[in-house]
Amino acid sequence: MSSKLNKYVLLRHGVQILFATIVLYIGLTFILFVVQVENETLTKVSRPAGVEAFLPISALVGLKAWIATGSFDPIHPAGLVIFLAVITVSALFKRAFCSWICPIGTLSEGLAKIGKGLFGRNFLIPNWLDYLIRSIKYIILFFFVWGIFFGMSGADAVAFMYSPYNMVSDIKMLKFMQHLTGFGITVIGMIVILSVFYENFWCRYLCPYGGLLGLLSILSPYKIFRNQKSCIQCGKCTKSCPNRILVEQVSRVWSPECTGCLNCVHQCPVAETIKLKAPMGLPHLSVKTLALSLLGVWAMFIIVAKITGHWETNMTIDLYKQILPVVNQIGH
Ligand code: SF4
Ligand code: SF4
Repeated sequence: MSSKLNKYVLLRHGVQILFATIVLYIGLTFILFVVQVENETLTKVSRPAGVEAFLPISALVGLKAWIATGSFDPIHPAGLVIFLAVITVSALFKRAFCSWICPIGTLSEGLAKIGKGLFGRNFLIPNWLDYLIRSIKYIILFFFVWGIFFGMSGADAVAFMYSPYNMVSDIKMLKFMQHLTGFGITVIGMIVILSVFYENFWCRYLCPYGGLLGLLSILSPYKIFRNQKSCIQCGKCTKSCPNRILVEQVSRVWSPECTGCLNCVHQCPVAETIKLKAPMGLPHLSVKTLALSLLGVWAMFIIVAKITGHWETNMTIDLYKQILPVVNQIGH
């Protein structure tokens, strides 16, 4: 592996591992927090606000309530902040969230690598079927966006925000994962197996979050540009693209499937032929500057949210203890 490729692989995987480690830490801390709440033991472990990253529907309702009433979600503020950070990153740097930050994307990439190791390659779903099932993520997205932004009034959104179920939805989500039903295990197992055979199966076909980010990423000023004059048509860019984009055939990649992974840039044998750049005289982004930009935007959102008091929930431990048994009754 050339040192240029080495540096690229190390940097992107380094960022992916950093976020996966943070998510793991948040998950373990949250489990300890819930054990405390349920066993009524002394509170030693604080609730990690970052767990709200896993409540995208609550964040979408929070966004609706914020737009409609001007009041920022006090129940899951970190969820809304993370959601805003994700859409900002996508509107600036394509779907780079998917290939650099999202732990599910990282897991998906790892599963595809296992498949490549086992079978020597990943398999391809025929084009006609690929087009058809790629629409699934947009259909799921449409139902969420339509239901929340057009089916709910501002008052409905606020009522949902303060509903007991939403208040403890983080704990309900954990319980759901801890006590998966046979059906849940079968569905997850099937997605895992399909991800081993087909690269990015979940992200490409099923993830509505990825669908939303893909649509937003069309607005991104940064796109993959190919210099048609210096290109020698070797096809390495297309071959290396995990999202089946025919990079060698276009001068600019508009596809909502582009995750800004920069594989194509680093596989191209001709220097300066493919770049992630913006047309407005902005400097192009190398792997290093993209990594720094992503981390910078992410950190900025969290720091501003913490300083302005939009990070920690208003929920107290006592409120958790009061509401949880009630919601558990509904849930079973
Ligand atoms: S390989 Fe290039 S075109 Fe394909 S997803 Fe990555 S950055 Fe986009
Ligand atoms: S890898 Fe580079 S040289 Fe080869 S087809 Fe793609 S842009 Fe052209």
